[in-house]
Amino acid sequence: MPTGLIVKALSGYYYVLSEDGQSTDSIQCRARGIFKKRGISPLVGDRVVYELTENGEGTVDEILPRTVELIRPPIANVDLAVLVFSIDEPALNLPLLDKFLVHTESAGLETHICLTKHDLTKDVDGAESGESTVSLDEAIRLYESIGYSLTVTSAKEGIGVTSVLDRLAGRISVFAGQSGVGKSSLLNAMVPGLQLETNQISMKLGRGKHTTRHVELIRLQNGGVVADTPGFSQLDFLQVDAEGLSACFREFAPYAEQCRFRGCLHLHEPDCKVREAQEEGQIAASRFASYLQFLGEIRDKKRRY
Ligand code: GDP
Ligand code: ZN
Repeated sequence: MPTGLIVKALSGYYYVLSEDGQSTDSIQCRARGIFKKRGISPLVGDRVVYELTENGEGTVDEILPRTVELIRPPIANVDLAVLVFSIDEPALNLPLLDKFLVHTESAGLETHICLTKHDLTKDVDGAESGESTVSLDEAIRLYESIGYSLTVTSAKEGIGVTSVLDRLAGRISVFAGQSGVGKSSLLNAMVPGLQLETNQISMKLGRGKHTTRHVELIRLQNGGVVADTPGFSQLDFLQVDAEGLSACFREFAPYAEQCRFRGCLHLHEPDCKVREAQEEGQIAASRFASYLQFLGEIRDKKRRY
């Protein structure tokens, strides 16, 4: 039986794109009753076995094992998170970037950082990073040195767009970032004919708790697909616990291994190698400050519940 990818779920129907590589139209399918009995439902991003029925429709018979299951947006098998931050308007917010990185690390997602609105660079002094100001070049060097791939783009001037597009080939991706950073503009620049609404502040507010919007995967010409709705927001609380947080800061790992205590939180423990590395400049002050900030937030949350 044929296999396919669910690209949309709406009103009890699943739209399956065949993996035979020939058909370009998705097939409208119902899920077999057995899923409901087992309390599972197919998700956008699921790879499924389906069967064609008469009238060109189909049924989803089997869900192939999922690698990842995101809650916001609800998509299975996401391969890549593209974290979108603007260089200006709104200003580059490194603590928020660090928070999103904790999300992607804890979800086990590969991450690409995209810095948008390069055309505004000349008016920019630097990035906001708590107390200190970090220049744009320093910020780029910092995240690249940690091991993140990064692209600078301008949807307005068509810079870097194909380079981001190349990263999405053959994968299921989600874009995440604050409202107004240029996610929709970037997607529109990548997909001919796509017209996601841009700068729709009022509509975005309306997308809060009360409006549920369906998720759809947008097809790219290179075989990749991208969610048409952004991933986790700054409002989502960190899903990691205090002990797990350190592991979400990749560059801490070689030092954390050498801390005297297993499960060291790098606060006041003796012989803490992470703190030493930070004092000696091997770990960036801004990253360590973000770590402490999130640790505090996780602990506050624990106290409240
Ligand atoms: P989203 O909320 O992240 O989807 O952001 P939008 O794509 O809606 O863009 C928000 C605003 O930034 C709009 O007014 C866009 O015109 C503007 N914008 C998007 N990309 C660029 C860019 O590369 N350069 C400049 N100068 N403005 C941009
Ligand atoms: Zn330590």
